[in-house]
Amino acid sequence: MSIVKLPELKNSLKEIFGYHYFKTGQEEIIKNVLNSKDTFVIMPTGSGKSLCYQLPSLLIEGTAIVISPLIALMKNQVDQLRAFNINARVLNSTLSKKEINKVKNDTIDGKVKLLYVAPESLTKEDNIEFLKNAKINFVAVDEAHCISEWGHDFRPEYRRIRYILDLLGGNLPVMALTATATPKVQQDIVKNLCIEHATIFQSSFNRENLYYEVRPKINAKKQLIKYIKEHQGKSGIVYCSSRKKTEEIAELLSVNDIKARPYHAGMEARERVKNQDAFLNDDMEVIVATIAFGMGIDKPDVRFIVHYNAPKSLEGYYQETGRAGRDGMEGNCLMFYSYNDILRLEKYNKDKPITEKENAKYLIDEITAFAESAMCRRKQLLHYFGEKYENNCDFCDNCRHPKEKFEGKRHATLVLKAVIQTEQRFKMDHIIDVLIGKESQYVKSYSHNKIEVFAKGKDENKELWGSVLRQIMIRGYLRKDINNFGVIKITPEATKFLKKPYSITFTKDHDFSGIDQQDEEFGRATLVSKAYDKTLYEMLRGLRKKIAKERNVPPYVVFQDPSLEEMATTYPVNVEELSQVTGVGRGKVVKFGEPFIKLIIRYVKENEIVTASDVVVKSAAKKSKNKIFIIQQIDKKISLDEIIKTNKMTMAELTQNIEQICFSGTKLNISYYVDQILDHEKQEEIYDYFRSSETDDIPTAIEELDDETLTEEELRLMRIKFISEMGN
Ligand code: ADP
Ligand code: ZN
Repeated sequence: MSIVKLPELKNSLKEIFGYHYFKTGQEEIIKNVLNSKDTFVIMPTGSGKSLCYQLPSLLIEGTAIVISPLIALMKNQVDQLRAFNINARVLNSTLSKKEINKVKNDTIDGKVKLLYVAPESLTKEDNIEFLKNAKINFVAVDEAHCISEWGHDFRPEYRRIRYILDLLGGNLPVMALTATATPKVQQDIVKNLCIEHATIFQSSFNRENLYYEVRPKINAKKQLIKYIKEHQGKSGIVYCSSRKKTEEIAELLSVNDIKARPYHAGMEARERVKNQDAFLNDDMEVIVATIAFGMGIDKPDVRFIVHYNAPKSLEGYYQETGRAGRDGMEGNCLMFYSYNDILRLEKYNKDKPITEKENAKYLIDEITAFAESAMCRRKQLLHYFGEKYENNCDFCDNCRHPKEKFEGKRHATLVLKAVIQTEQRFKMDHIIDVLIGKESQYVKSYSHNKIEVFAKGKDENKELWGSVLRQIMIRGYLRKDINNFGVIKITPEATKFLKKPYSITFTKDHDFSGIDQQDEEFGRATLVSKAYDKTLYEMLRGLRKKIAKERNVPPYVVFQDPSLEEMATTYPVNVEELSQVTGVGRGKVVKFGEPFIKLIIRYVKENEIVTASDVVVKSAAKKSKNKIFIIQQIDKKISLDEIIKTNKMTMAELTQNIEQICFSGTKLNISYYVDQILDHEKQEEIYDYFRSSETDDIPTAIEELDDETLTEEELRLMRIKFISEMGN
């Protein structure tokens, strides 16, 4: 093979592609390929890897085989190349017999410079025969991380590539390219393709312009809408874990006046392409997608990426967030995190074969550690890719809002000793067990309950030790053994530290444990109570008391506590917004709303609060059919006994439904029914009670009224009647 001299290379670049300069690394890589050497390119998305195999093939005799995992990706590249007048073709299952023959003939005739094939097609016998007859100059394996089970996109067919190449014979130079490679994945690629002698070109994975942020998944729908409205008019991708979720969230955003469409593999192809194009052409702001969206998408001005559900692996996270700010400008990456999402991920893996399951578990553990850690996010991400990032980045949530720190000389010493005393042969969980003094079967069988450090760390819990271990690892005192994954080894830095221990500070992890499943998305009462503005809440309560007194009704008739908490969270400043608050229907807004709105407006102004005024989540869900039916029936004064029969529900269920309708502010007149079951005297008595009581709690009422002839159902119906008449 002839070697092309430098000036010529640059000329060709300009002549063929119209670019004036090589991007960092391209020139060296291309020279390496032209010298027929094996080449391993590890560079982030957008750094111009494709050109590194495209250009050299044009400069030498023969056809380059490009192995690529996705048909859509291949087509996209080939279309682009043909626009440059370059003879590139695809060979895959979408072609007709006639088309296949044409591709093959043209290749044999030496006309085709780049032949894109899917790994499945490679393994077909007649294709192998054909390739034996063609003049191949080199083979490029794109998205090479698909080889590794430790990558985020494992493709078993990729493991057969070496075998096929050997069948073709002739010692073809191999080029592997990837934008994601942890040291473990790198090793898999090298081993599997047998390119131990390859020249490695690796550039930093740091994406300086990306801002990383993880938030607890509390009231996520509202947070999401607010976040998107803060980036109004800009393009963004929201990643969800399931097809159903993408549709649900896309609808939620649409009804909240955000131009959004879903994208997932289960959609009809035409619809999917339409949505993708609308996004690429800026006709739509947000695409709500599963991870099926994005590979090969080259939109340079995506400004935010939201992970509505935790991603499956840190590599996946890096890839997906990598689609923000490809033009080097603004790029915001927000992940919502809750342990429920992690459990859901683990559930998906439940039925996988054991090793695969274990691998998947490791990947998920890394995500948990990343989310919960209060260390610089960039430092963690880069460490994951085997890069050391010395300082803090000052451009992630953890750097901007530092968590509490603690002196950890003793912690570090204990951890390192534990690793050494267990002979550097164990994984994290085991080392932690030893530290906290857990006499598990495993610990006993190795007599690790006899070593010096055993139980020396029992004053701390295992979460803290896990956090310390990870922080020590990221600082480079410990490392995971690549060949024996998960096993922890010490580094020379650790030895140095142990000889003369010095002060070292660790950061306390975030505590995400308070997020309970129900509240993740909507932020119902229990949860809102954690986040609301206490000062405003007290003021609202004061106002409620005053108004209740004026009207001679108990406070809860005006608004119930959860409604006030929500107001102290969302700061409604007009009628429209106030009526969106749970438990506040139109009726209540008219009756009581004004003073509350005034108070909130004044409060917001005085305290310079950025209101969530754009962020009132309009729920996409309509009132259920059941509820509408019930309202209609009650309007017609149909007996409740009748309604439960036609609706096939119990009285308890019906009562509950009516309560929900009533508490959300819709007026329901059930007097006609109550009159049938309770005489006037009894009704008066109960009314008096509710009027004077501080609470509308039913058990309390039962106790206070102390009347054995009253059933709970009757009391609840009375409460509905009372609240309907007084409040709504
Ligand atoms: P990767 O495969 O690493 O994600 P691509 O090969 O898709 O990156 O290239 C990213 C973008 O950079 C493409 O739009 C490509 O046309 C452009 N590009 C590649 N090389 C150059 C160059 N030397 N000068 C300018 N633009 C380039
Ligand atoms: Zn940082």
